[in-house]
Amino acid sequence: MLDLTFDNAFIRELPGDPERGPQRRQVHGAAWSAVAPTPVAAPRLVAHSREMAEALGLTDADIASPHFAEIFGGNALAAGMQPFAANYGGHQFGNWAGQLGDGRAIGLGEALGRDGRRWELQLKGAGPTPYSRTADGRAVLRSSVREFLCSEAMHHLGIPTTRALSLVATGDTVIRDMFYDGRPEPEPGAIVCRVAPSFLRFGSFELPASRGDGDLLRTLIEFCIRRDFPHLGFADETRWGDWFVEVCERTAVMVDGWMRVGFVHGVMNTDNMSILGQTIDYGPYGWIDDYDPDWTPNTTDAGRRRYRFGQQPNIAFWNLHQLANALATVFPGHDPLYAGLDRYVERFGEAERDSVARKLGLAEFREADGVLMKDLQALMQAAEIDMTLWFRGLIDLDADAPALAPMETAFYDADKRAKHEPALREWLDRYAARLREDPLDAAARRERMRLANPRYVLRNYLAQQAIDRAAEGDAGGIHELLEVMRRPYDEQPGREAFAARRPDWARTRAGCSQLSCSS
Ligand code: AMP
Ligand code: MG
Ligand code: MG
Repeated sequence: MLDLTFDNAFIRELPGDPERGPQRRQVHGAAWSAVAPTPVAAPRLVAHSREMAEALGLTDADIASPHFAEIFGGNALAAGMQPFAANYGGHQFGNWAGQLGDGRAIGLGEALGRDGRRWELQLKGAGPTPYSRTADGRAVLRSSVREFLCSEAMHHLGIPTTRALSLVATGDTVIRDMFYDGRPEPEPGAIVCRVAPSFLRFGSFELPASRGDGDLLRTLIEFCIRRDFPHLGFADETRWGDWFVEVCERTAVMVDGWMRVGFVHGVMNTDNMSILGQTIDYGPYGWIDDYDPDWTPNTTDAGRRRYRFGQQPNIAFWNLHQLANALATVFPGHDPLYAGLDRYVERFGEAERDSVARKLGLAEFREADGVLMKDLQALMQAAEIDMTLWFRGLIDLDADAPALAPMETAFYDADKRAKHEPALREWLDRYAARLREDPLDAAARRERMRLANPRYVLRNYLAQQAIDRAAEGDAGGIHELLEVMRRPYDEQPGREAFAARRPDWARTRAGCSQLSCSS
């Protein structure tokens, strides 16, 4: 069996629900409910992350053993695992939704990694819990592939995120109320083992606050500081302000990371906001192909587009406000909460300016560079330019003879290209003039840009192609993508196809353009 050491602080230190099992219920005064994964027909390991396995101290033999698929498919528990579902609430699409909780996620416990780091393991799609409401607690293969791949891709991009250890096919089918390719038919089910130091969310704190349960809220805050923010020294009220400020800072850094690489979360509800400032809950997320701040991948959000790309920094701020409102019910004073919110704005600005300088290859940010970037973004949107390809092409610009040539593959529409060519040339001239004033030499500039502008991102159509193959029983596409996404900033000879512009067929196809929450 797996040789993992567990220290299950969450369920040891926080009050639990006296009732057990998956009977749906409202759970008061407790942060979690004991519930076991529901066994599946034929668990089979489809893919795993070798970096995550290594961090946990798992060997190749562990991964290859049939126990591994049994455990991470929910059919067995390793020694020390104590399964539970966490209780939390959330604001969904701007409205308070009450108790939500882990409806299809089951925590297994907190494994101590080789270096002593704590990693909570969690199965997503392992069957019903008290928080499943009317749903089945399961996940379909397509959404599990997307979560597995994107967690690891995001990690390798250097953006804070929950991780994924494994992707296990269950051998069972799952029915969704969505018309996938026009037919509501049973789909293969799967389970991802997600991994993070903590799965506490903004909504974990909002729920007890909404119920006037100050005792549980205080206990949660102190637990979170003690376990997840130990560098703050103490967990008593004197540190609460510092803690909130840090939550705000981390959230700002995460969102700036998304904006830098063109990631759209798609469901920024407060139950999907990690207290650690990690990207969490990969549902109907998407990646920007042609630059469009108004684009959202989430069909559920299509009307109001609350969660569109360009809106993300504002929504994170709105979410922090909801967290602050919840914390205000027990915080000794409100000044630290205002200070945290102010700090978010400041920290996001710092991070954004730094990203602008890095993306453009400038030694440091100057006020006018912000305008330069904004003007470029407006042009990219008007001329329908691929964000990733443009910035990657820009690395090869000759500052002494600026031309569109290195960015030629970034255009989706010849007419729009022609129409905006004069403005684009003018922009390139301005940029080249700025580069000529910059202290960095061409080689240093190119390296700086290379590290800020990924060559490979998990474009929606790439994930969909891997999913289509997996549905036919061929996991090769998943393995290839995982491999490519391990080094997103490197040129990978022979893998140019993974850096290609979105093909025309993928523009409107289900799964390649927009997705629903149903997964
Ligand atoms: P999400 O939109 O993924 O953040 O999910 C919102 C809430 O619905 C969370 O409490 C989830 O646990 C729950 N949920 C989503 N899908 C399922 C499912 N298939 N079965 C049970 N609960 C679910
Ligand atoms: Mg969620
Ligand atoms: Mg989800």
